[in-house]
Amino acid sequence: MTDAKHTTGGALVLDGSALRDRMIADVAREVADLSSVPCLATVLIGDDGPSQVYVRNKHRQAQLAGMTSRNETLPASATQDDAERLVRALANDPSVSGILVQQPVPAHLDGEKLLALIPVDKDVDGLTTVSMGRFMRGMDSLVPCTPLGVLRLLQYYGASTVGKRAVVVGRSPLVGLPLSVLLARKGIDATVTLAHSRTTDLVEVCREADILVSATGQARSIGRAHVKPGAWVVDVGISHGEKGIVGDVDFDAVQSVAGAITPMPGGTGPMTVACLIENTLAAWRLQH
Ligand code: NDP
Repeated sequence: MTDAKHTTGGALVLDGSALRDRMIADVAREVADLSSVPCLATVLIGDDGPSQVYVRNKHRQAQLAGMTSRNETLPASATQDDAERLVRALANDPSVSGILVQQPVPAHLDGEKLLALIPVDKDVDGLTTVSMGRFMRGMDSLVPCTPLGVLRLLQYYGASTVGKRAVVVGRSPLVGLPLSVLLARKGIDATVTLAHSRTTDLVEVCREADILVSATGQARSIGRAHVKPGAWVVDVGISHGEKGIVGDVDFDAVQSVAGAITPMPGGTGPMTVACLIENTLAAWRLQH
């Protein structure tokens, strides 16, 4: 790691954009040597603004990695049948390496049923029941992108995890739950507490953390009082305020006490996309 920056308060900045660029460049070098070009297909249903931005970003990074990408869209009025037909077609198309169904899907659709149609070797989001089951068992699998991105960021910037106390706030199957499992894995070896909206004394729980990750979507809910001096603080949450994107962490207050901190934006978001692109390459390899 050669590009260390620090906040005015002295915390190491965990720059996800910089690491994403390195990861995408590494993937591009590998893609150049493959016998065919991996293809990422996204399925976007409806007109959710943030989802459109996220999907555009994923295509941009896929292309920078030398991959092709397909952006399949359906209107918000699409039926379950329409959506299932599309995912099935992508599942059966040998030119498609990875499939991502952008969440959330419109409320009248059954997102779980759509996920279930994605073959495990094209499940670049790592969210299907089979992928998650394999992941929980510690078997080879495509690992969910956001938790993997958090881990890669910590590792790249030199966080020590073995025997450390990690607190993950938020227990969703998308982020918090798989991240807690990942951090506790053999070889990473953190001692993990998984906190949520019913946790009592959240401030005290968080203050025990050497590594504190917040994934709740509660804007600026993690303040200075939550952070043990020197702790590594990772912000996953994204809230869309009037002035743009706001994280779970009150960056200005926390950066002077934390040992390291992610910016928002520019921290975990780019890492999620980088891991998606790595997973697409891994999916291509599984299919060849
Ligand atoms: P969910 O709404 O599915 O889960 C939120 C979790 O936070 C729940 O477990 C909930 O607890 C917990 N929670 C909510 N309020 C509080 C509180 N006041 N104190 C403690 N815990 C609380 O969200 P997701 O996991 O899907 O996403 C979380 C955030 O991460 C969102 O802002 C999302 O936009 C963002 N995100 C960011 C990504 C990135 O790349 N940076 C990628 C994916 C998501 P309970 O279970 O008790 O309800």
